[in-house]
Amino acid sequence: MQVLKFGGTSVGSVENMINVADIINTTTKKIVVLSAMSGTTNALVSIAESIKNTEVLSANHQIQVLYDIYKATCKQLLSNTEFYKGVLKYIELTFENLSSLTRKAYSEQLYNQIVSQGELLSTQLFNAYCNSKKINSIVLPALDFMRIDRSQEPDSFYIKKNLERALNQLPETDVYITQGFICLDALGNVSNFKRGGSDYTATIIGSAVNAEEVQIWTDIDGVHNNDPRFVQNTTPISDLSYDESAELAYFGAKILHPQTVLPVRLQQIPVRLKNTMAPKAYGTLITQNSKGDGIKAIAAKDGITAIKIKSARMLLAHGFLKKVFEIFDRLETAIDMITTSEVAISLTIDNDENLTSILKELREFCFVEVEEHHSIICLVGHAIVDHPDTHKLFQILQDINVRMISYGGSKNNISLLVNTSDKVETLSKLHRYIFE
Ligand code: ADP
Ligand code: ASP
Ligand code: MG
Repeated sequence: MQVLKFGGTSVGSVENMINVADIINTTTKKIVVLSAMSGTTNALVSIAESIKNTEVLSANHQIQVLYDIYKATCKQLLSNTEFYKGVLKYIELTFENLSSLTRKAYSEQLYNQIVSQGELLSTQLFNAYCNSKKINSIVLPALDFMRIDRSQEPDSFYIKKNLERALNQLPETDVYITQGFICLDALGNVSNFKRGGSDYTATIIGSAVNAEEVQIWTDIDGVHNNDPRFVQNTTPISDLSYDESAELAYFGAKILHPQTVLPVRLQQIPVRLKNTMAPKAYGTLITQNSKGDGIKAIAAKDGITAIKIKSARMLLAHGFLKKVFEIFDRLETAIDMITTSEVAISLTIDNDENLTSILKELREFCFVEVEEHHSIICLVGHAIVDHPDTHKLFQILQDINVRMISYGGSKNNISLLVNTSDKVETLSKLHRYIFE
C-alpha cells in the first residue's frame, strides 16, 4: 500500500485537482491524504477569531465569501457530471452549519469544529471528481480511525485497528481518500494536529498500514538547502536522513510538519517529497541513511524567547540546574537551546503561554532577563560538527549579532540565536558563504 499526501496548493484549484487525479490514477492501491484547498484553513481560522471577538457580521461575511468560492469550484470541477448536485448539497450544508455557529459561545471545541471543515470539503470535491473520471475511489472519513490520546500523541493501537477494519470493509476500492490534519481527541471531540498537520496524518497512516513508501506532494521540488521564502538561489536536497529532516522540520523548514518523520522512522518507511506541479523532478528522499558530509541545509524558526538565568548565589551550585529545569517541566514548556557559563544559563523557549508563571518561580531564587522576538537559525547536515569546512562558519559569525550558539549537542546540528530582525540577512549571508 502506498500513502500519498497532497498539500493545500496541490488541491488549491480546479486545474491542480485535475493534475492530482492524473498522478494518483495508477494501478497501485493507495491511500490519498488531502489538505484543505489553500487559503481555506486560514479563512476558517479568521472566521473562528471573529466569532471569538463576537464580530458576527464579519464572521458571516467571511463565510459568504468562502461559500461563493466553493460553489464556483464545484461548478467548474463537476458541473457536467452526475456528481455535481450531491457535492453542492454537501457544500450548502457545510456553510449553513458554519453560519449557525457564528452566534455560539466561543470555545476551543468550536474552533476545532470550524477549522476541520476545510479537509472535509476538499476530500468530497476531489473524490467526486475522481469518480467522474471512473477512478474507483471512496472517502474514508479520518474521524472514523484517527485519534490522539490524553498526552496528545497518536493512539497507534486504536488507529491501526480502526483503519484496518475500514480498509477491510472496502476491499474492492483502489483509492481511499481521507482528510489530513483532523482527528478525534481522547474524549471523542474533533481536534487536529496543528497547522501543517496533514504531513503528520500521512506518516501516521503510513506506519499503521506499514506502507512501502509515504509520498508528500507539495508545491516545490523537495526540501531546499535554505528557506526559499527568504533566500534566493536555494536548491533541492536529494537525500536526507530521518534525523536531518526531523531537525530541519523542528527548526522551521515549513515544508514538513515538525513531527512528520516520527511515526515511520522505526519501521524505516521511506518518505519521498515530490512536486505536484513538476512530477518528474526527483524531489527529496528521506530514509535511515545520510548521504554527503558537511552542512546540507539551513532553516529558521521564529517566535523564540531567550531567558537568561543568573544564580543569586553567584556560582551554579549543584542542584541549581535541576531546580530550573523542574520549573519548565512542571509548566509544560519545552526548552530548545541552552548554554551555560559559570554563573548563568541562557535558554530559549518557543511557547510563552506559561512564561509569567515560569518567571515568577524563577525569580524566587535567580536574577532573570527575558528577550523576545528572536529566531533560531539551524544548520543541519551529517556529522557537521566534525567536518573541516565547519570552521568557515566562525569566520562569518563576526559579521552577525549572535546571541547564543549551540554546538556539539548533536553531531548533525549547529544552532544560532539571532534577533528576528536579523534573520533574513543571517540566512542569506550563511547561504552565500556555505553554498555558493
Ligand atoms: P503544503 O500546503 O503542500 O503542505 P507548505 O506550504 O506547508 O505546503 O510547504 C511548502 C512550502 O514550504 C514551500 O512552498 C516553501 O515556500 C516553504 N519552505 C520553507 N522552507 C523550505 C525548505 N527548506 N525547502 C522547501 N520549501 C520550504
Ligand atoms: N489545512 C491545514 C493547514 O492549513 C493542514 C495542512 O494543510 O497540512 O494548516
Ligand atoms: Mg504543509
